Amino acid sequence: MSVAPSTTVPLDDRFSRELPEMALPWQAEEAPDPELLVLNEQLAGELGLDPAWLRGAEGLGLLLGTRVPSGATPVAQAYAGHQFGGYVPRLGDGRALLLGELVDAGGMLRDLHLKGSGRTPFARGGDGLAAVGPMLREYVISEAMHALGIPTTRSLAVVATGRPVRRETLLPGAVLARVAASHLRVGSFQYAAATRDLDLLRRLADHAITRHHPGAADADRPYLALFEGVVSAQASLVARWMTVGFVHGVMNTDNMTISGETIDYGPCAFLDAFDPATVYSSIDHGGRYAYGNQPLVAEWNLARLAEALLPLLHDDPEQAVALAVEALGAFRPRYDAAWSAGMRVKLGLRHEPDAEVSALADELLGLLQADHVDHTSFFRALGSAARGDAEPARNLFLDLAAVDGWLERWRALDPDADVMDRVNPVYIPRNHLVEEALEAATGGDLDPLGRLLEAVTAPYDERPGLERYAAPAPPDFGAYRTFCGT
Ligand code: AMP
Ligand code: MG
Repeated sequence: MSVAPSTTVPLDDRFSRELPEMALPWQAEEAPDPELLVLNEQLAGELGLDPAWLRGAEGLGLLLGTRVPSGATPVAQAYAGHQFGGYVPRLGDGRALLLGELVDAGGMLRDLHLKGSGRTPFARGGDGLAAVGPMLREYVISEAMHALGIPTTRSLAVVATGRPVRRETLLPGAVLARVAASHLRVGSFQYAAATRDLDLLRRLADHAITRHHPGAADADRPYLALFEGVVSAQASLVARWMTVGFVHGVMNTDNMTISGETIDYGPCAFLDAFDPATVYSSIDHGGRYAYGNQPLVAEWNLARLAEALLPLLHDDPEQAVALAVEALGAFRPRYDAAWSAGMRVKLGLRHEPDAEVSALADELLGLLQADHVDHTSFFRALGSAARGDAEPARNLFLDLAAVDGWLERWRALDPDADVMDRVNPVYIPRNHLVEEALEAATGGDLDPLGRLLEAVTAPYDERPGLERYAAPAPPDFGAYRTFCGT
């Protein structure tokens, strides 16, 4: 690949052209001493960006937002949102910028976006900055999610700025460059609806249809079809989270995408022991965003999206509500079907009806919960059980009689171990390993981060030498908490 000067990075400004009312032109803050901490070369390639160029001064300028290609218009995006159930009419990118859109190798339009690039007019009381640890955390977890096959925003790079950030202590600052199908959120629609500018709401919906649910354009009711598309994408996304044991942690409506990608990795984590009540976020006192609540919360957020879309659904408000209610009714069956399908492959089953798979899976999850069994280790060990060696799975339980009964009934269904090994990961970003890697990186040692990334970006492929990346947290790791003070 040739070295491209920054002026040739073909950044489009489609969002700000089509939706200027929601795009505030803004500039990134200068970084006193930039240092590239991690670069996703494969993703750079997909985007047509030369990794060698990105590592140079001009490339770092792009990744920090301080040297943007001529013609590009970095903007802070406006959005609203329900945070922990309370409506906030004006959130927006307080410390983030959309640099613009790029066409990737597959012909798809992708947002190039920065987080931690300085205060914007949406910053409210925030400093507009981000620390190295939380930005690397988003990098690791989003790339692990991608490798697990779960729709997500991607991480292109983390660049340390050389500027300290004040949190509980002084921490090194960083900017994350991330890539997304778009940054349209449920909260974007809430914002547009609240302006009462029907033309803006319609343009936003048209923009979303073109980018994410193009089939909706040909439907009898395109905006209803858009809503149905989001319902379906989110039902299947959250089912994926549930089957892999992912806890998002802050499912506010501004953190839920229209594309169906996972977005905004803050206080998120993967389950160790299986327990629906698991909450990692230190600010989620009521457990609103507990693991087991995620499908319900997604449905609640989609109801907020429906409310925002009502004026586009029908001229008669009552009929608009009826259409929205009916469309939202598809969430539960769609989620149930996606969850059963996910559990079916996790259990290696083929011919049984969905209801039977779900019943067997529910019973199993009850056993995991009762004995505090490590979610990821169990499902991987179950592959060995399908091959005839049940000991690795049995060893995780105290109540052997109960699990033996379950294993016997499951084995009688002739599970396919190869199918199971392709969907039950060996390596996930385990909380104790993420903490270890971020702490080391914050202190200047990037080796643990590199090894963790190596493990979690090929999650199904068991490799010698990576045993500690497959093992549950040591008992002294204790109750894990993640912090929103990112
Ligand atoms: P989040 O919980 O990270 O999704 O952020 C919620 C809102 O707070 C968004 O509007 C962010 O832009 C804003 N925000 C979060 N942290 C900061 C910060 N350090 N400075 C300015 N705004 C922030
Ligand atoms: Mg957010």
